[in-house]
Amino acid sequence: MAGKKIELREKTLEIHGNSGESAADLRPALHRTIAFPLGSLERGRRLFAGEEEGFIYSRINNPTTDALEKRLAALEGAEAALVTSSGMSAIFLVALHLASGGGHFVSSNRLYGGVYHLFHERLKALGILATFAEDPFNMDRWDAAIGPTTRFFYVETPSNPLIDLIDIAALAKIAHRHRLPLVVDSTLATPALLRPLAHGADIGVASLSKYMGDGEVIGGAVFGRKKMIDALRLGWFRDTGPCMSSDNAQILCYHIESLHARMREHSVNAAQIAKFLSRHPKVKRVFYPSFGPRAAANRALMPDGFGGLMAIELRGGKAATRTALESLKIFWHAANIGEARSLVVAPAFETHGQMTPDERSKAGIPDGMLRLSIGREDPRDLIDDLKQALAHVK
Ligand code: PLP
Repeated sequence: MAGKKIELREKTLEIHGNSGESAADLRPALHRTIAFPLGSLERGRRLFAGEEEGFIYSRINNPTTDALEKRLAALEGAEAALVTSSGMSAIFLVALHLASGGGHFVSSNRLYGGVYHLFHERLKALGILATFAEDPFNMDRWDAAIGPTTRFFYVETPSNPLIDLIDIAALAKIAHRHRLPLVVDSTLATPALLRPLAHGADIGVASLSKYMGDGEVIGGAVFGRKKMIDALRLGWFRDTGPCMSSDNAQILCYHIESLHARMREHSVNAAQIAKFLSRHPKVKRVFYPSFGPRAAANRALMPDGFGGLMAIELRGGKAATRTALESLKIFWHAANIGEARSLVVAPAFETHGQMTPDERSKAGIPDGMLRLSIGREDPRDLIDDLKQALAHVK
């Protein structure tokens, strides 16, 4: 791409953002290796000390993971990114980086069950304490939870499985008034639909195991200021080792090239299915951002669509959940989100089963809930499948 530099639009960034192509490679190349030549002793010393940028050892960085990091940073509008072995390791690293040594943080309680468990059990065992804002839409709750050792705010938006959207800009204002960074997990939106840093978040975290990798690989990412990413890379990341393989990084680079188109298709399909379910007599409630009292505000937060995840509450409780789940024929009963194929789980008994009944009740997850990850099949087939499955529910 010789000549004058062109300002790229978001859709183009998924293919060309921070482009790493060389004369030999049109697409990000696979560097399946562990160590890299250090050159002179002085260069080796500088690399290890973080005084010069370059590749040392694939636990720290690698040209293929670097290409993915640069592509993600371009898409998120971030100075830099760090990719990790999974979304959980990305979130864990950020918590260690910001709050190790007895820190406290305030988090929304509307979280993926595994993250809730990490915050509630594992971080507590390490002396990092969380206060959960049980009504995260009430900004006063966040303010009131701040104490002398508070180090950051954490929110998941859209949340799993309720697809709640938080006003990141409003929350960032409160965090910044107290000189605290706001960390946002925007996994379920992807940068095709929401870029948290553009709304005022300081640090973004994401599971790349959902839409980004189209169901093929596990991965995670942290993005934000370069200074923070460098400190994380040469700190908790280097010393604990949750790196991504170069093979996975290359696969992710390829899948990201179709991200905007896929997210549009997931969003269009999900909106149609949410409409159908909202009129079904056996469905008590549909959790999708285009419904309910916050629908207009939600559209302002994510004007390009809400993605493919939704939840429904069935009138018949646990028995209805089991019947519907086991009667579906096209939806796979599997614990993931964001694949080409539609997936279904029962959060109260599966993805959020580590929470106590009381914690689930406070987080708004009833026994009669099904979480649907709407794929990219013809939505009419998905509606037919839901129709026949719900017909079995008493
Ligand atoms: N964040 C959200 C919103 C998730 O839904 C998940 C997993 O379901 C994670 C983080 C954890 O990601 P991973 O499974 O890649 O560790």
